[in-house]
Amino acid sequence: MHPFTYNALPARVLFGWGTSSQVAAEVKRLGCSRALVLTTPQQVDAGNKVKADLGDLAAGIYTNATMHTPMDVTQDALAKAKELQVDCCVSVGGGSTIGLGKALALHSPDDAKIKNLVIPTTYAGSEATPIIGQTENDKDGKPLKTTQKTMKVLPEVIIYDVDLTLSLPPQMTVTSGLNAVAHAVEALWAVEANPIISNLAIQGIEAISRSLPLIKADPQSRDGRSDALFGAWACGTCLGAVGMSLHHKLCHTLGGSFSMPHAETHTVILPHAVAYNAPYAQDAVARVAKAIGTDNAAQGLFDLAKENGAPTSLKELGFKKEDLEKAADIAAKAPYPNPAPLEKAKLLELLTNAFHGTRPQ
Ligand code: NAD
Repeated sequence: MHPFTYNALPARVLFGWGTSSQVAAEVKRLGCSRALVLTTPQQVDAGNKVKADLGDLAAGIYTNATMHTPMDVTQDALAKAKELQVDCCVSVGGGSTIGLGKALALHSPDDAKIKNLVIPTTYAGSEATPIIGQTENDKDGKPLKTTQKTMKVLPEVIIYDVDLTLSLPPQMTVTSGLNAVAHAVEALWAVEANPIISNLAIQGIEAISRSLPLIKADPQSRDGRSDALFGAWACGTCLGAVGMSLHHKLCHTLGGSFSMPHAETHTVILPHAVAYNAPYAQDAVARVAKAIGTDNAAQGLFDLAKENGAPTSLKELGFKKEDLEKAADIAAKAPYPNPAPLEKAKLLELLTNAFHGTRPQ
């Protein structure tokens, strides 16, 4: 066993079917009594159901959560929270909605922090991390996303309700699942890798790779949906516990500077990031391959996406060929820990392969 340091994050997790009906008891348990339900325009019905479950504890509902946590949406929701004198929020949705709940916690006063209960309905994993990304326009009016890590945004309670994930559309199920797998893969080769998180990473990769074909065959599959949501928790915990490297850096660059969609970009980049690091992270990559039941992790991840109907190229996501060079430049610039050395020419080759959707060698 190698030496390691492990920092555990506090977590209260309820996992099961129909668990969101326990939300009122969880709000009371936190000592709160005025909850603001957060969701997106697409999930108003799910939000209203949770509001009904809250009964007298519901102070209101805010349905305008938006991808990348734009500051103007946060200000709008904060004004509503103040008007309704809320003491906690219940986020019903994916990473965008959970991001808004985190922003309310971050921007509320320390002595009257808006506590966060989250009911995740995708597999992105934000619920298990003390990380928040926020977007504001820079002086040229271009959106600029900045990320920070602070315990203030780690949700107090996570309620995983498999029933609320049954409606996740098929393609988003695959891309969101592979977004989760990416957290676990990078945890295995992280500088802070430790046996607890690495075991969780393997469990997460196994659960999600097993679930995707089941959900493809039957989107209502109880085994598939519960494995996928368990995998999301396992992989999200990896993201919250150890540092990420090349893969997340590339996706952050593509999302932040080129407005590429979050889960889809993770899906396309992951096999190529694995191929890039494979010679320098042989143990980690061999464990990934075993977890997905193949002997080549990069090819296995590419096939998992393709066979389950997810996009495999940046081209089909609308990325422009002429931006490849600029993206490689940004990714090569700021130094960050990564198993393989970061060389611009090789990064450009990686991005070019991802652009064309070439199956890794
Ligand atoms: P999302 O939250 O933007 O959801 C995409 C769409 O799917 C939304 O319209 C949403 O309402 C809908 N949806 C979600 N669950 C559904 C369901 N079960 N049924 C039907 N529709 C559903 O997508 P996401 O990929 O979960 O989140 C992406 C955002 O989260 C990005 O901004 C990303 O940066 C952030 N994120 C942050 C962290 C972190 O640790 N801070 C981690 C992962 C992702």
